[in-house]
Amino acid sequence: MALWGGIEAGGTKFVCAVGTGPGELREARFATTTPAETIARAVEFFRREAGTALVAVGIGSFGPVDPNPASPTFGSITSTPKPGWAHTDLVGPIGRALGVPVAFDTDVNAAALGEHRWGAAQGLDTFIYLTVGTGIGGGAMANGRLLHGLLHPEMGHIRIPHDWARDPYPGACPYHGDCLEGLAAGPALEGRWGARGETLPPEHPAWPLEAEHLAQGLVSLICTLAPQRIIMGGGIMQQAQLFPLVRRRVQELLNGYLQAPAILDRIDEYIVPPALGSRAGVLGAIALAQETIRSADEQYSPALR
Ligand code: ZN
Repeated sequence: MALWGGIEAGGTKFVCAVGTGPGELREARFATTTPAETIARAVEFFRREAGTALVAVGIGSFGPVDPNPASPTFGSITSTPKPGWAHTDLVGPIGRALGVPVAFDTDVNAAALGEHRWGAAQGLDTFIYLTVGTGIGGGAMANGRLLHGLLHPEMGHIRIPHDWARDPYPGACPYHGDCLEGLAAGPALEGRWGARGETLPPEHPAWPLEAEHLAQGLVSLICTLAPQRIIMGGGIMQQAQLFPLVRRRVQELLNGYLQAPAILDRIDEYIVPPALGSRAGVLGAIALAQETIRSADEQYSPALR
């Protein structure tokens, strides 16, 4: 039987899985240490769990990354501030060690693909997967293809209106200060309120403000990409009280301009959590691997060398 490998390469942990889909999956999670040690653990996992049945591996990685197959640094993490990981080639060593094709994309594009195949974006061709956690990142499918372009989308770093009277916090992004990620990711919550988000109660004023920042970002993304749905995952979005706050504020900000029933009447089904939960990323990596073999139709144009 053919088995597929998936890696959700995160800055704090790697999730590796072998299988064919959500119902048939064996997983391992381990801490992200040095590149050499972490890659070796991943390779060892695939050899042990799949052996010669392994057909291809997909990697969804933290970034920024180089997802362009025509580039000499394809398959690498590029300018990350994570110590030891800048300019780390993931595809090369893993492909050579396992002797199979390796597909590569951002962690959020992989999660988007997973949700498209098995989750909350089935049947859609244009949608966004946004993760709100230690950072904010967005993956997108547009007209049935994962979106790349110049490098890859960096939805966390869009600029949003910042009401300094309501929120004097200057923002936590080392590049931009008060971009969306700078105002709404985990470090901003902690910096603004002096406590980690998960320790703040649901009625805390942190949450309406968080919803304001997220809604401002979503409105720009909705007007730019015209997504048919927005899937919001990540640690901060585990705060279920955020969803109704964000939905209502998005409707208010759009102010009836977009005459779409999905937004006007069914916004509960428009801005949603991932159906695959925390497995969206690694399942998406499995889907990326599967696309390497099915890429004759180039439906998703996966990055593949
Ligand atoms: Zn930024």
